[in-house]
Parts: sequence; C-alpha cells; structure tokens
Amino acid sequence: MIWNRERECMPRTQLRELQLAGLKWTVDRAYERVPFYRAKMDAIGLRPQHIKTLADVKNLPFMTKQDFRENYPFQNFAVPKEKLVRIHASSGTTGKPTVVGYTAKDLEMWTELMARIVCQAGVTPEDTAQIAFSYGLFTGAFGLHYGLEKLGCAVVPIGGGNTEKQLMLMEDFGTTVLISTPSYALYLAERAEELGIDIQKRLRLRVGLFGSEPWTEEMRGQIQDRLHILATDNYGMSELIGPGVAGDCEAMAGMHIAEDHFLAETINSETGEVLPLGEEGELVFTSLDKEALPVIRYRTKDISVIDYTPCSCGRTHARMRKIFGRADDMLIIRGINVFPSQIESVLLSTAGVGPHYQINVWRRNYLDELEVLVEFTDDSMLDNYKKLDALTAHLKERLHNVLGINVKLRLVEPHTIERTTVGKAKRVFDHRNDPE
Ligand code: ADP
Ligand code: ZN
Repeated sequence: MIWNRERECMPRTQLRELQLAGLKWTVDRAYERVPFYRAKMDAIGLRPQHIKTLADVKNLPFMTKQDFRENYPFQNFAVPKEKLVRIHASSGTTGKPTVVGYTAKDLEMWTELMARIVCQAGVTPEDTAQIAFSYGLFTGAFGLHYGLEKLGCAVVPIGGGNTEKQLMLMEDFGTTVLISTPSYALYLAERAEELGIDIQKRLRLRVGLFGSEPWTEEMRGQIQDRLHILATDNYGMSELIGPGVAGDCEAMAGMHIAEDHFLAETINSETGEVLPLGEEGELVFTSLDKEALPVIRYRTKDISVIDYTPCSCGRTHARMRKIFGRADDMLIIRGINVFPSQIESVLLSTAGVGPHYQINVWRRNYLDELEVLVEFTDDSMLDNYKKLDALTAHLKERLHNVLGINVKLRLVEPHTIERTTVGKAKRVFDHRNDPE
C-alpha cells in the first residue's frame, strides 16, 4: 500500500520544482536566522538569491557533526526556544551530544514521514508493533512510535533490553511487527532458540523494521531465516530528523529516499566533489522544509549509491542502496582499506560460525594486525581440533580473498562474545592509539 500517493508517486519534474522551492526557502531562512550559516555563506560571498537552480546546491558549504557540537546546544536553531516542542540528542559517547529540535510542524512532518516508512515496509493498521529501541534522547523509538500510531496499528512501547520479557509479550500480545536494531533482532532469535521457543509456532512476527546501525545483506538473510520474517531496512540520523530519511518498499530493491523533504547528493569523501548520478560515495543531505533546525549539505559519512531508475512499486523517489559502511569506520590496515561490512559478509555466509563477531586492530612491532573473533556454532567442535583448524583455515582464506590482507582469526566458543541489547552494536575495537 502507498501511504501518500500524491507525494510518493509525484512526477519527477514536479518533485524537482518542490525541491527547488524548499531549497530556496531553507537557505533564505538559514541565512536570515542562523549566524552559523550566514557566516559560512558570507565567507565565500554567497547570498541566498544566488541559489537559482537545484544544481546550485553544490555552491553551498558543507556541514558536519562537528558544526552541531560547536553550536551546542541551540545556536543552529532557526526558531526561538519557545517554538520548540521536542528536543532530542544523539548518543555522543564522547564530549557533548549533538542536539536537535522540532517545532510542532516539524513533528507533524516527521510523523507523516514515519507513517510512510512503516507503510511501505508492509505494516498495516491490523498489526501489533513492538518497539525494542530505547526510548529517550535517541530519535529511533519516538520516530517509529508516532509513525506507527498514525498508521493505526497497536504500539507496544517496551523499549530496549529485557529480552525475555520481549519474547513473552511477543507471544502473549501476538506481536506481528518488530522494531529494533538488526543486531538485537538476531539476539532475540538466539534467546528464543535457547529458551526453546518455537518461533514459527508460538510467535506471530511477520515484518521487522531495522535500522540505526550498518548491517549487510547476509545479516538480513540470517534474521529472515531465524525469525521467519521479512527484514526491512530503514535509514536516518538525528541531525536530519531521525529515522524516516529512507526505507525499503515491497520491491526490496533499495530504500526510497524522502526526496520531497530532503535533497540528496553523493560526493567523493576525500575531495568533496559532487559525483555523477549513480556513483558510489558519501551521502550528503539538505533539509527542504524543516523549521527548527535547517540542515544544509550535511555530510553523513555514510557510503551508498543512489539509484534514480523507476521502482516497480510505482513510487518515484530515488532509492539508496544499503549502506556499505561509514567513511570513518573504514580501517586502514597496512595501507589497505577495510570495511567491517566486508568482514561481516564473509562471516555470515560461512557455515559453522555464528553471526556474532568482534574486530580488533592492534599495532605490534610497528605493524598493523587485524584480528577477527567469531563464535563457532557447533559445541562438538570443542573436542575436534582438526575440524576447528580446518574451519579457521577456510575462513582465513576467504577473508584474505576479499580483503587482500592476512587476518588473525580466532574461533571462540558459542556465547562468549558480548551481545548488545541496548543501543547500537559495537564490534570494532581499534587499539592502535591506546595508551601503552
Ligand atoms: P539515530 O539516533 O537516528 O540512530 P544517529 O545520529 O545516532 O541517529 O545515527 C545516525 C547514523 O546511524 C547514520 O549516519 C548511519 O551511520 C547509521 N544508520 C542509521 N540507520 C542505518 C541503516 N539503516 N543502515 C546503516 N546505517 C544506519
Ligand atoms: Zn519501491
């Protein structure tokens, strides 16, 4: 089903007109009301009236997460504080968090957008949706919550963690939709299996909406097989609005970007140069109708490709391919670029090892060393060194083929790698700059 046909299936010429009007409105307001934007534009002699076409967006300066931090908490806002009705902030494990605000109109827009995202993932008003994201400053839970309610389904706001209770309510309430991080979905499957819950017989789950952290197609496959659901992807970030920027449709061939609210570009991460349509690069977004916090050319660090070809579902908005990784997650090991997603793809497509892994990078004797820990799945392996050795050698070879470097591989016993039950999974630990 299509939530808002007029918007989602808008002819692209009309969409571009809407985008241009939104871009001009955003730049005007940002220049008039936010000293940060005014200073950045003045520094290069750019005035709002110089933005005449959509292509002119490339003349505007970029902004990064750092710009949010430096203007902590409210200096980038384009409305007085009394106009705000909600404030969120991103995790910010170190230093000040990045703070974002919403007017009543912004919240309405976000809710509408989220209803669209859940609808295109196949959720209907008859569904019961369990939100296993943590409620709080994090945008994920609230975003999905209001969107699902708007669509008309029953929301179970259990929040993050509490896995056994999650499973109990899922069974007792007949939950059909799961909202969580992909890593938590896998953990739920694992706990259910351990507790002897027959997922197919006792649970009624049918669709999952997963996001907030990178996950590979292989991970999608495992979640689908183990939870017996359709595992859909959705993407967003608090700086822009929260979840709702893009999401899978029934065609499952890339996530439709809400182009009526956000202008998307892909750039070369190193040079900042705008890439031709269809080339892989860093995603950059500009908000088109946000009141409280206009965002101009925000560099996401997320690597993807945008596909402008028509989708079989009838929606006209472009689709972004699943995020390949973040520019700043890329590890440089002895000069070779390695994305954690490449490692995940290999591990999750190898029989005999589970989906839980950890990546460590060390510098020993001035040389970088990449160590991958992964659990073997079959307990009987413990007594069978030959089998363990063979599996280790097989994985090392596969990783070498994909990454082009030697990896130190350690198979560990099932359940020894820590699971993330609340928040985003952390799997990569770079120890190269640790104090001695
Ligand atoms: P939120 O609080 O909405 O998760 P954050 O600002 O904390 O927003 O994090 C946003 C980042 O999370 C994105 O820039 C991206 O790196 C990652 N992310 C969010 N959704 C996805 C997704 N579906 N796939 C891959 N990465 C994602
Ligand atoms: Zn589609």
